[in-house]
Amino acid sequence: MKRPLKLDLTMARYIMAQKAKGRKYFPFVTMLEPLEACNLHCIGCGRVEEYKSVIGRRLTVEQSLEAVHASGAPIVSIAGGEPLLHPQIGEIVKAIIAEKRFIYLCTNGLLLQEKLDLFKPTPYFSFVVHLDGTEKIHDYVTQRKGTYATAIAGLKEAIKRGFRVNTNTTLFHGSDVEDLHKLFALLTELGVEGLMVSPGYAYKDVSDRELFLERQESIEVFRKVLDPTKGFPFYNNPLYLDFLRGERDYPCAAWTTPTYTVLGWRKPCYILADEHVEDVNELFDPKLWERYGPGKDRRCTNCMMHSGFEGASILEALSKPRDLLTLARGERGG
Ligand code: SF4
Repeated sequence: MKRPLKLDLTMARYIMAQKAKGRKYFPFVTMLEPLEACNLHCIGCGRVEEYKSVIGRRLTVEQSLEAVHASGAPIVSIAGGEPLLHPQIGEIVKAIIAEKRFIYLCTNGLLLQEKLDLFKPTPYFSFVVHLDGTEKIHDYVTQRKGTYATAIAGLKEAIKRGFRVNTNTTLFHGSDVEDLHKLFALLTELGVEGLMVSPGYAYKDVSDRELFLERQESIEVFRKVLDPTKGFPFYNNPLYLDFLRGERDYPCAAWTTPTYTVLGWRKPCYILADEHVEDVNELFDPKLWERYGPGKDRRCTNCMMHSGFEGASILEALSKPRDLLTLARGERGG
């Protein structure tokens, strides 16, 4: 199944409606984390530790829907933790799709084959299988042998049954470029809809010089990994891919991806939770964003996360016709 045209049309209509209302700070994607428990303990993932004290907590179907309504975004990304461990995940997905919102369900793929019957193929729903490299590297990152083979088997079965399937890969400045290209070539051949990439977020309290080098080194890796001549179907928008290659600069717009968890809305963003709050509108307060983003908070210096900057690239394109055209061509694979 291909990326549905109605997804792009819905998003375009929604953004125009928000602009017409005069809203400057509004969500594009609700990040819903209905649980933080996971069946893996991957290197570099902080969620399991961060939510240790509430690891057994689950959002109900009603709580999940309330969060989706409070945010109002037409796209919902369900993550965690491992969403397929949630006993009511089928019902949560069904209820959100019934409202004609688009869902990306992020999974490590271990339970994919076993849980496929809970879902039905529809343009409103896509799995996003997380893979950080080919077998040796992925099994190392997930710290368990066999995770790559299981995830690939689940992904193949989902494609065979007609589901939309995307993948997500975390890139670090030490990533093995050759291995990633092998992975992307295989996934393209298997027929995934698109390849999402997320820069790893490595907060370290080091000197400005080291921080700068870290970001610059990341950009060097992105330039090689995101080589446009390879023809891989990257799913992130082309302006954001340019940003990762160091060819564009954007301010952070993390309010575009408010994140709801078992403790409430993460404030300020998907990455940082200086507090959890009950009212999503606190995340759309302009005063909040005077304090966060590169140059404002030390922890933001190295951040290039899609949750902060992909929305920013779209917002800026709205006032630049040439960028808008690049965006439109890219979204349709042009
Ligand atoms: S720069 Fe990154 S860490 Fe900082 S507020 Fe934006 S998304 Fe969050």
